[in-house]
Amino acid sequence: MMADNILEVNHLKKYFKTNRGMLHAVDDITFKLERGKTLGIVGESGCGKSTTGRCILRLIEPTDGEVIFEGEDIVRLSRRQMREKCSEMQIIFQDPFSSLNPRNTVMETIAEGVRVQKKYRTPEQVEKRVLELMETVGLAERLINSYPHELDGGRRQRIGIARALAVEPKLIICDEPVSALDVSIQAQILNLLKQLQKQLGLTYIFISHDLAVVNHISDEIMVMYLGQTVEKAPSAELFRNPVHPYTKALLSAIPIPRVGANKGRIPLKGEITSPIDPGDECRFAKRCPYASDVCHGSCPKLREIGEGHFVACHCFPQ
Ligand code: SF4
Repeated sequence: MMADNILEVNHLKKYFKTNRGMLHAVDDITFKLERGKTLGIVGESGCGKSTTGRCILRLIEPTDGEVIFEGEDIVRLSRRQMREKCSEMQIIFQDPFSSLNPRNTVMETIAEGVRVQKKYRTPEQVEKRVLELMETVGLAERLINSYPHELDGGRRQRIGIARALAVEPKLIICDEPVSALDVSIQAQILNLLKQLQKQLGLTYIFISHDLAVVNHISDEIMVMYLGQTVEKAPSAELFRNPVHPYTKALLSAIPIPRVGANKGRIPLKGEITSPIDPGDECRFAKRCPYASDVCHGSCPKLREIGEGHFVACHCFPQ
């Protein structure tokens, strides 16, 4: 059976002009995302994962490439057409505090999205819908007139989720949604996102620097390094059989809560290649213990090495 892909990203690029040259923030990213599934995007800060998310929503304009959402290339849409699409694609940000208007109560924040859906017209209908959404995300009714500063980080993130759900989206980009939260609250928010996905048939792109967090929620994981995909595979396969040296280093850094279990950590040494006009060599070559002449001579292309498992490396698998 053919996969029902809600999103196809083809050769997406985002370059920024700087005084020193062209910064390649996102450099030729291609992937497909099946409806109702979660793609985790993981990598260090500055690898282009958040820029990829923002380009997909056109919060920043891509330099090149296609973003095919529900069969339509939304990069070609006018600003007005894109505004209409916005209700189908939403984003949840890392820092719920700075993404919420401090002068708006929970009611006012969520109601903004509810009013976009023209079906709720009277103040009573809007309030009823806000209360429904609060219940959906686990916010107590008594908090309806609270301001963001009166709530803890977990509750603020729940408001961010309710605000995103208010417009009844199909795709949500979760950009480091739990990074600013305590570990116990992180688990609650991740479980809430999973439960909402099941309940509402949502599709997620889940962006994080933390591979363990991404693994908790994703069906597939895409590892990015300096604007490029270096490995992509179903989550279980990536953890069982990591191939790219960078993926192996990321996996080795996940703490295992057992005495003596963290000895195998692979340190990443060496200079980081500049993302400004990076040239045609493997972007990981300066930090890779396996780098050889071929790695400095050309940038490896992503190739399929097993079902749904893609790697960009000249030397692995051998
Ligand atoms: Fe390392 Fe070469 Fe593979 Fe790049 S292509 S990750 S430098 S082995």
